[in-house]
Amino acid sequence: MITTRFAPSPTGRLHVGNIRTALHNWMLARKAGGCFLLRIDDTDAERSREEYVEAIRADLAWLGMEPDGVERQSERLALYEAAFDALKDAGRVYPCYETAQELDLKRKIALGRGLPPIYDRAALALSDAERAAKEADGVAPHWRFKLDHGEEIRWDDGVRGPQKFDPATLSDPVIRRADGSWLYMLPSAVDDIEMGITNVLRGEDHVSNTAVQIQMFTALYAAQHKGAAKVPDFAHEALLVGKEGKLSKRLGSLGCDAFREQGIEPEALVALLARLGTSQPVEPIADRAVLLDTFDLSTFGRAPAKFDDAELARINTAIVHQLPFERVQGLLPEGFTPEAWHAIRPNLEKASEVVEWWQVVTGPITPPDFADEDRAFLTEAARLLSWSETPWQDLTSALKAATGRKGKALFLPLRQALTGMDHGPDMKELLPLIGEEEAKARLESAAVA
Ligand code: GLU
Repeated sequence: MITTRFAPSPTGRLHVGNIRTALHNWMLARKAGGCFLLRIDDTDAERSREEYVEAIRADLAWLGMEPDGVERQSERLALYEAAFDALKDAGRVYPCYETAQELDLKRKIALGRGLPPIYDRAALALSDAERAAKEADGVAPHWRFKLDHGEEIRWDDGVRGPQKFDPATLSDPVIRRADGSWLYMLPSAVDDIEMGITNVLRGEDHVSNTAVQIQMFTALYAAQHKGAAKVPDFAHEALLVGKEGKLSKRLGSLGCDAFREQGIEPEALVALLARLGTSQPVEPIADRAVLLDTFDLSTFGRAPAKFDDAELARINTAIVHQLPFERVQGLLPEGFTPEAWHAIRPNLEKASEVVEWWQVVTGPITPPDFADEDRAFLTEAARLLSWSETPWQDLTSALKAATGRKGKALFLPLRQALTGMDHGPDMKELLPLIGEEEAKARLESAAVA
């Protein structure tokens, strides 16, 4: 049984990069008939906002990626406390007293000497008396997780292949602030264990976090679960970048709202993001079963995935052309029929444009001024219009026979008189929607105008 999780911090709206991560986790779970969890990483009480939690849930619902369960880290603090205590007893966390300025200086000095800016573990060397003196001075410690330098870190990444880290090249991460609040690293590892997460799929900006968290899993299992660690399968996808080659500010702030306002359908976003950056072609596939069937981490590339608005717009248009009536019914004007949707759908770039075409069907419309010759032709058209199952075919063949006109000279004035437009949905389908009486009236009024 596969269980995945999407773990956003509710400090802002989801952007297109987060949406992609959420989608891939959703797909990984759904394809295997597994479980997709939403974990709200809200340990940072100051920056987390309830409105963002709601927005994240609404966005996932809009995208059709409802989670099978929702957990909030702010409600799980006791678990982190217990894990922390167990790690402390096992000697895997230690208190540190450096100020941010001191740490910054240490980093600068290391860099100045051409050394990697790794924490020097000075706090580990403090004697009990030195620690007591700091605390007597009122300095509260922050806490670091002690990496085991004797244990090389390896995993087989679902996207990047075999990975290897020497823990001595990593800083012992700070896991808890002096005020007792949690940083991301430990709560996430605790939750992944407690929630039975089998697959962690996230952006490659988390690769070095994974190295650390793998040691945390081992330490937590040893300290709390008294057994060999069950480490999830990790996969890190290449980041999403804009056409210009980086995650621009604009792209980083493009959320579901912005897409919705631009008339982008969730199916389009899903079709694009499902395959962007993979070796599979991005196609306007509205059927999720097809996307799920072909979803395969081994097709994910190492190069950054390029997000292009123009590509999304193209996919969106192709998706709109496939949307069934039932899917858009709620968005359509009163009286709209499935026939009207099928007639108009191929002319839309965005579903919202349907309103303009409905106006063409229901009227009033403004025809252009016709030359005398065309007016005579339209008078003839009004006279010959007769109603049947196929009024357009009947009208045009009768007019062709009566006037000798053909091609554009035959069709364009009719279209203009009947719709006020030079182009648009197939007249075969449109004319029945306009109806006999209205069509006759339009032809007559264009003829005298
Ligand atoms: N809250 C973390 C983030 O948004 C979660 C990372 C993870 O998937 O573990 O980056």
